[in-house]
Amino acid sequence: MAECIFCRIIAGQAPAKVYYRDEQAIAFQDIHPVAPVHLLIVPIKHIESLNAMTEEDKPLIGHLFWLARQLAAQQGIAQSGYRSIINTGPDSGQAVFHIHLHLIGGQRVRFPMG
Ligand code: AMP
Ligand code: ZN
Repeated sequence: MAECIFCRIIAGQAPAKVYYRDEQAIAFQDIHPVAPVHLLIVPIKHIESLNAMTEEDKPLIGHLFWLARQLAAQQGIAQSGYRSIINTGPDSGQAVFHIHLHLIGGQRVRFPMG
């Protein structure tokens, strides 16, 4: 997906502050952080949204949440707490159509986030 910004980051064709990478996923800083910690955990596989997820993707989506847990600990916010969210479709405000898990913490997160 040459026109997908997250595929471009994964391919090294667009810049990002990368915190973690393995063969299934990458984690990088959100370009407009809403809290001191705001990482995006993104599968290497281009999946448009949760609506495009298939049953075979179940372990992959589980892996994203596993990485959220690991990165929360690494960032020192495991005990203070964090938000881990996936936006899906227009009412959620989904802006990038390559599935991603937001990891947000380091301060009290207001709800809703707007
Ligand atoms: P959403 O699709 O609403 O869940 O959120 C998309 C998120 O991607 C927003 O928080 C953006 O700030 C973030 N974003 C968009 N482009 C980039 C980029 N090039 N690098 C890092 N984060 C980005
Ligand atoms: Zn993509």
